[in-house]
Amino acid sequence: MEKKETFNAWFQCAGGCSGKYALNEIIYRCPNCGGLLEVCHDIEKLKKAHSKEEWKHIFDDRYKRTDWPYGSGVWGKKEIVCPNIANENIVSTYEGGSNLFWAERLGKEIGVNDLWIKQCGNSHTGSFKDLGMTVLVSMVKQMQSEGKHIPAVACASTGDTSASLAAYCAIGSMQAIVFLPRNKVSNAQLIQPLASGALTLSLDTDFDGCMKIVQEICAKNNIYLANSMNSLRIEGQKTVSYEIVQQFEWEVPDTIIIPGGNLGNVAALGKGFLEMEALGIISKRPRIICAQAANANPLYKSYLTGFKDTKPVRAKKTLASAIQIGNPVSINKAIKVLKEFNGIVEQATEDELANASAHGDKTGLYNCPHTGVALAVLFKLVKKDVIKSHERVIVISTAHGLKFTEFKLKYHENRIKNVTPHHANLPIALPAKYDAVLDAINRAIDDK
Ligand SMILES: *Cc1c(COP(=O)(O)O)cnc(C)c1O
Ligand SMILES: [Zn+2]
Repeated sequence: MEKKETFNAWFQCAGGCSGKYALNEIIYRCPNCGGLLEVCHDIEKLKKAHSKEEWKHIFDDRYKRTDWPYGSGVWGKKEIVCPNIANENIVSTYEGGSNLFWAERLGKEIGVNDLWIKQCGNSHTGSFKDLGMTVLVSMVKQMQSEGKHIPAVACASTGDTSASLAAYCAIGSMQAIVFLPRNKVSNAQLIQPLASGALTLSLDTDFDGCMKIVQEICAKNNIYLANSMNSLRIEGQKTVSYEIVQQFEWEVPDTIIIPGGNLGNVAALGKGFLEMEALGIISKRPRIICAQAANANPLYKSYLTGFKDTKPVRAKKTLASAIQIGNPVSINKAIKVLKEFNGIVEQATEDELANASAHGDKTGLYNCPHTGVALAVLFKLVKKDVIKSHERVIVISTAHGLKFTEFKLKYHENRIKNVTPHHANLPIALPAKYDAVLDAINRAIDDK
């Protein structure tokens, strides 16, 4: 590669093969071993440019300000995310900077006083996928500005990736093509790419089936692949680690629980912490816990073998539809992270995830079913005393609850098979009469 010396960031085989590839090259896998690539940064150069204290100041000065694009939680860390994109090519929705919510009431109820929810669903399209999509779509814009012909950007999705890709492509005037498993995404998730003008292909298969086809279509037709095997997305998603630490005045929490499907986000979370460590910004690592749905649990099964065996499973239907994935593309990256971060994998049944989500809602969270998986795992590990009451625990909430109205409605109406709703709450139908209304109110107050 003739430009090697000037690279501040480049693709490299995540499995350790030699070779560097430019970030504006269309390449997703290592040509040598076929494994995933990852973005590497010239950490020494970054350390020489600024001390760790200076970096913290730079990140703090930009955080949620209006100096475009640096007010974005992702682009405020541009030097360590993707320095190779010109600012005029950045497609951003001011993603990141999401609320770190102190779940005081929920924490008290389960016996963890320092419980926080990182609200990644409070984002432009309602999920953390925006963090990565801004980097990927901006790179497409950059490549187009350099004269590369990229007629479209495509992804397979369990609902949130497609919503995000479609929105960013709409903003950046690009054609998005999304592959969705028919009847396996929520109505809100289906309407998002449609509204954004994406070509929306509803295929009679599951996510893993969509993934196979989209890879073949992209490889043979010069269409850019936007799935998380494209490690540019991981670069944006990893900023969640920087943000959590930054929001605690650069202090590292004890434990982070994250729901995992394709496992790119676990990989991203770990990468963020390892790089902060390399930059000297932090000197301690959190424990990372990945939460899976019992109906789609290849990582959990691998964990039970001490990560000796990793086999795909056939993912069964789960209320946590965005993690209904049996053959996770980033499983090796995720395992590497879990080994580095004293990791645990735990699973949650449909009953556990639905009730945990509803319990969270009752304390004001209005969370999505995937966050429910993480909460269920939190409850379990606190009960087992694996997570101690004094720990500072962060739950990564991955999407906005408003995307999952059908799930919540069915729960409260007791219409979900194998789920007994312990927190159901239904409207009370009454005649428009004072006495009947007062009666109902008194009964509710007496119950408290
Ligand atoms: C994509 C997604 C996940 C899973 O993230 P992976 O990187 O695939 O493990 C979890 N929750 C929601 C809401 C998602 O959209
Ligand atoms: Zn390789």
